[in-house]
Amino acid sequence: MCAYRPEQKKALVCGAGGFIGGHLVTRLKNEGYFVRGVDIKNHEHKATDADEFILGDLREQAFCRKITSDTTFDELYQLAADMGGAGYIFTGEHDADVMHNSATINLNMAAVARERGIKKIFYSSSACIYPAVIQTETDNPGLRETDAYPAGPDSEYGWEKLFSERMYLSFMRNYNMDIHIARFHNIFGPYGTWEGGKEMAPAAMCRKVAEAPGGGEIEVWGDGEQTRTFLYIDECLEGIRRLMESKVSGPVNIGSDELISINGLANMAMDIAGKKLSIKHIQGPLGVRGRSSENSYILKALGWRPTAKQIDGMRSTYAWIEGEVKKRA
Ligand code: NAD
Repeated sequence: MCAYRPEQKKALVCGAGGFIGGHLVTRLKNEGYFVRGVDIKNHEHKATDADEFILGDLREQAFCRKITSDTTFDELYQLAADMGGAGYIFTGEHDADVMHNSATINLNMAAVARERGIKKIFYSSSACIYPAVIQTETDNPGLRETDAYPAGPDSEYGWEKLFSERMYLSFMRNYNMDIHIARFHNIFGPYGTWEGGKEMAPAAMCRKVAEAPGGGEIEVWGDGEQTRTFLYIDECLEGIRRLMESKVSGPVNIGSDELISINGLANMAMDIAGKKLSIKHIQGPLGVRGRSSENSYILKALGWRPTAKQIDGMRSTYAWIEGEVKKRA
């Protein structure tokens, strides 16, 4: 039962048991929202700050109806997805699940939001929608939002995101819904997946460095020269909220433009830890050669762009993962 105060805005956060969704719940609570979180699992790394947390499967339309039946939410944040880092989405082994699970969640939530009169929706797309052919060099000049077409993502994960972007935008045009879409570029920070195969590069590097004995060795997939930009969670949340408060539908890049190689990321984690380790390059799933966020559109559209230095985010991420590694030992 929805027990909110009349003056409170009501937000429904799908994917609230995940990394970004969990942080978003906290941010919305700090802003005074009533928050109902929904996920197929509880948050693995911290207690939820949501007023209510409902466990269930968003692939089931009946469940999506149930969680929206007792009130009209002012805002829906749709972050639930079958997702992971390169070790999950680039091996090909999970392609059918990734496409079917995430597309079903999005189809359900768009239809139910329309049915229930939830007009304002945030959808989390990804930098993985950008064409592989323009990401073949390590010194990627930055992907502009308009680079998405002609389309050619390098993974089924990216194709599903592109489909769902278009699906939400079609609901905006045909059903007068207020849609806001962000393309996240590698978000990282504490309280995210850091082991098990679904973790992303910053968490993986922190874990490997934290686990390695001084003078030891860590493994990096490929030659480690592949580049990315990584955005700390706090700036991601700032981007989401600014986008939702704006008249901009997007899609808008929410990413850093501080390009770093995976070797560079590994060295950064070693510097933070004060450990000198050697890097062993092994075969592994890689994704594109170079990817960076181009941020002139977000600056123009929202009057803001991410500016925090990656090293600062890596310090707090490393501290949290090192603590988790010690707890497990
Ligand atoms: P996450 O995996 O931590 O969170 C996703 C959540 O969705 C998980 O808690 C999962 O249990 C939930 N979920 C999956 N299937 C579900 C189902 N059938 N029913 C209910 N819940 C279900 O991932 P995240 O990093 O927090 O990412 C959040 C969103 O942002 C995702 O849509 C992701 O694709 C997108 N994104 C993330 C990044 C990033 O760098 N983390 C980059 C680009 C896009």
